[in-house]
Amino acid sequence: MPQYKAPQKDMRFLLNEVLDYPAHYKRLKSGAEATPDVVETILAECASFCEKVLAPLNQSGDADGCEIVDGQVVTPKGFKQAYDQFIAGGWQGLSHPVEYGGQGMPMTMGMLKQEMMGTANWSFAMYPGLSLGAMNTIILHAPEDLKRAFLKPLTEGVWAGTMCLTEPQCGTDLGQVTSKAEPLGTDRKYKITGTKIFISSGDHDLTENIVHIVLARVPGAPKGTRGISLFIVPKYLPAEGDGGGIGEYNKVSCGSLEHKMGIKGSATCVINFDDSVGWMIGPENKGLECMFTFMNTARIGTAMQGVGAAELSYQGALAYAKERRSMRALSGKKEPDKVADALIHHADVRRMLLTQKAIAEGGRAMLYEAGQIADLMTEAILAGDDKTREHWDNKLGFYTPILKGFLTELGYECANLGMQVFGGHGYIKEHGMEQIVRDTRIATLYEGTTGIQALDLLGRKVLLTTKGKAVQEFTGKVLKFCAQQARNRRMLPFTWALTKYCAQWNYLTVRIMLTATRDRDVVSSAAVDFLMFSGFVSLAYYWARMAAVAYDKLDKGDGAESPEFYQAKIKTAEFYFDRLLPRAKSHAEAALAPTRTLMQLDVEHFALG
Ligand SMILES: Cc1cc2nc3c(=O)[nH]c(=O)nc-3n(C[C@H](O)[C@H](O)[C@H](O)COP(=O)(O)OP(=O)(O)OC[C@H]3O[C@@H](n4cnc5c(N)ncnc54)[C@H](O)[C@@H]3O)c2cc1C
Repeated sequence: MPQYKAPQKDMRFLLNEVLDYPAHYKRLKSGAEATPDVVETILAECASFCEKVLAPLNQSGDADGCEIVDGQVVTPKGFKQAYDQFIAGGWQGLSHPVEYGGQGMPMTMGMLKQEMMGTANWSFAMYPGLSLGAMNTIILHAPEDLKRAFLKPLTEGVWAGTMCLTEPQCGTDLGQVTSKAEPLGTDRKYKITGTKIFISSGDHDLTENIVHIVLARVPGAPKGTRGISLFIVPKYLPAEGDGGGIGEYNKVSCGSLEHKMGIKGSATCVINFDDSVGWMIGPENKGLECMFTFMNTARIGTAMQGVGAAELSYQGALAYAKERRSMRALSGKKEPDKVADALIHHADVRRMLLTQKAIAEGGRAMLYEAGQIADLMTEAILAGDDKTREHWDNKLGFYTPILKGFLTELGYECANLGMQVFGGHGYIKEHGMEQIVRDTRIATLYEGTTGIQALDLLGRKVLLTTKGKAVQEFTGKVLKFCAQQARNRRMLPFTWALTKYCAQWNYLTVRIMLTATRDRDVVSSAAVDFLMFSGFVSLAYYWARMAAVAYDKLDKGDGAESPEFYQAKIKTAEFYFDRLLPRAKSHAEAALAPTRTLMQLDVEHFALG
């Protein structure tokens, strides 16, 4: 298994030199404590925990998997001890309000933590990750008494949380949810009955209690998405009185564990609610809207899985490519004293490594800037400032499907490339490269498939709600950057390409918008190509920005890193523009292809053999 080493230099480069996090934190109320020294300490401590405690459990967790013993899910060996260390370190509440036991840091501090944890061991990181989803939902929608009962133990990590949306008949189309909620007559209390499937962290042995956030219907609710409400349903009811702890068993059981391709250390459960007591949070029949408040931040979390996969697989592949020898480089011997040259001297192997590097480092830049918007949105939510929240949420809403769809697709590609660099050995379990492929495949599926992200981007964010303005706004920002760099001749290859692609992005949007007036299927047929085009062009913008900073640091000689670090950034940016960005062109062409070729084959004629 690749020995995970947190890429702290790269993280600091983005935080301090590209995105100016210190200034960003100064603008935030929650940023008062996040001084550069504190951020540095947290980064270093978290890196150490992830490298020394979580990473060593990644491969064994895959081999052990989860199992049900006496009706209770047992996690892989070592997970419980690691989790205890995790909560003892106060990591769960890092970015959550102090009044509920958290440390009150900005949301992005939690994001950095999640990145390192998720790259070191995604299966483990799922447990606290799902709790964060539950905590965020409770903060926003639960009344004070329920916050007091549930939020503190969740923030401290002694209880864990889940998000229970999916049912056997529906995952994307939650309008089909059938779980029932019968009123108990008092205190927004209900009896919840139904079966949820694919519930991550649905049951486990890490905490004394598990708090489920559940979608269900009250009697007489309208059909479809307009009749779904949101409930808190714990596995054990909170103990009576103010002493904390757990009380009576609430008839929430794990029916079975899903046997799946990857993330085997993460328990994916069928969860049965059998007249289990639950409390409604948020307004009746507005459950889906409540659930979606933090959807953008949750999707950024999943996009992180793509970046983490690219990073981990790159670390493994790079080490191997320097060690393993095969034949001679076409341009002549590179290591004449050795029996053969190392893999890294072959251009095709470099193509694979540089693709991984470009996606891992570029994707990280995309996420860290989106994180700043999420910080601003979270601050507005906590201040109850709906107008400001909406402003930032709309901005984030455009980025999120691109981040989630594009970075998970590319992260998976990078995981595959890492395996390819190992040749046949990549397919053998011992090296851990095939595990990264298996673990990453899910990222393009859950939290909305790539197809659904693409529909959200093109259909909702671009065409329906903004009539193309979202693209104009983003490309406007890119063009402004290009104009600022106009006098920098070394940046010309980047800014010239960006200018052309921005024009093409707007053209593509208008063409699809016009076609959609007579052919609605075009939104679905063009969506994924539109998303991938958007991803490749956005990533180009971040690489250009990193190159501009690198040139500047080299010129001034005031960078925190070595000259080689900045030169490597520029060279990787050149690689990206030459070899990956051109893929955007084929996506643009495919997006504009008529829907006819997709829709003309009769359903009965798909298989005539
Ligand atoms: C390991 C794992 C963990 C999970 N964790 C959780 C969890 O913690 N909580 C939870 O609630 N759920 C969870 N899920 C469920 C997951 O979110 C869903 O599986 C996912 O959203 C897709 O839903 P589905 O499986 O029903 O696919 P479907 O909705 O049946 O989609 C099937 C295919 O059709 C496409 N499609 C569907 N509708 C359209 C449309 N209108 N237009 C175009 N294409 C369409 C999709 O893109 C997809 O390719 C998890 C799933 C897995 C496998």
